[in-house]
Amino acid sequence: MYNLHCHSLLSDGELLPSELAVHYAAAGYKAIAITDHADYSNIAFIIKAILEFTRHWPKNRKIIVLPGIELTHLPPEQFEPLAKYARKEGIKVIIGHGETLAEPIIPGTNRAALEADIDILAHPGLITEADVKLAKKKGVFLELTSRKNHHDTNAHVAEQALKLGARLILNHDSHRPEDIISPKDSIKVGLRAGLSQKEIDNIYREVGLFIAKKEGK
Ligand SMILES: [Zn+2]
Ligand SMILES: [Zn+2]
Repeated sequence: MYNLHCHSLLSDGELLPSELAVHYAAAGYKAIAITDHADYSNIAFIIKAILEFTRHWPKNRKIIVLPGIELTHLPPEQFEPLAKYARKEGIKVIIGHGETLAEPIIPGTNRAALEADIDILAHPGLITEADVKLAKKKGVFLELTSRKNHHDTNAHVAEQALKLGARLILNHDSHRPEDIISPKDSIKVGLRAGLSQKEIDNIYREVGLFIAKKEGK
């Protein structure tokens, strides 16, 4: 079981990266990505800090920790240069903070993020068919989330992705210890979005392959 979207003290989360890793391992997860909010003001700092952490995280621990980042509330034209920069520096999981209905997101954000070199489009709200097709073409995961408010459009995202063949991922977008839900409850998020158990198994298989690739295995 995996969660590739969580926030630490490096942005607006409550836990240190090490606390996140230990909490997730205790909850039964095999891998996480720590993906703090970044824009031009803090991206260099976050990348340096999370790479320092993951470089020192012992390989023999029970949980894999991938260095990530969430490009958040950017003017759309900044997704491309910042994703490129994060990739070059060694960030493995790049998330675009998509057009959730719960926040005032700049229109065109889903499209600009998908055109950049991202891995996951988080909470993409009422994503259009054209953008789902672009996600499919680029192999970008569209996120179903357990996070309150953001999860309101999960059923739409799941339906469109299944219809058009785009990849899905189940994530927590966790900020506090209470957001670290059990693997069982993660599966419930998928079921509630209208997925079958078989479709959810497929998601975890695909995400497992993605993690193995990022780990260089
Ligand atoms: Zn946040
Ligand atoms: Zn987030």
